[in-house]
Amino acid sequence: MDDTLDLYQELILDHNKSPRNRRKVDPADRQAEGFNPLCGDHVSVTIKLDGDVVKDVAFEGSGCAISTASASLMTEALKGKTLEEAKKTFQRFHGLVTGETDEEPPTPDSMGKLAVFSNVCNYPARVKCATLAWHTLKAALDGENEQISTE
Ligand code: ZN
Repeated sequence: MDDTLDLYQELILDHNKSPRNRRKVDPADRQAEGFNPLCGDHVSVTIKLDGDVVKDVAFEGSGCAISTASASLMTEALKGKTLEEAKKTFQRFHGLVTGETDEEPPTPDSMGKLAVFSNVCNYPARVKCATLAWHTLKAALDGENEQISTE
């Protein structure tokens, strides 16, 4: 039996094959870079703000299917959100894939397409792949322009 089938669902495969918003926002108001040495994933996130609204968000980089699909779905999920909403979505997503959350557990309904990553918490080695783009995003939103690492 192939137990990775659950992990690599169609939506993840699709976003890995044709990542959305894989480009650079230029000029960017916020940007950050992230590495996951464990897997070799690398992602850079650029953000254009309009007041406190995420007007545009894009990513570049290379990595495994999970990290690429996660970054792609993240850009789709966050465009048009306020900074507050974006940070909340980060927390929910983080809770979803790590299985650790202070709030109510995220439900597929509240997560939309991001719920496709709910199985990742069963694959601890993959959690960092799924959260890399999100940690990088958070660093960018917090104005930390330095490189971040999951290690
Ligand atoms: Zn990876």
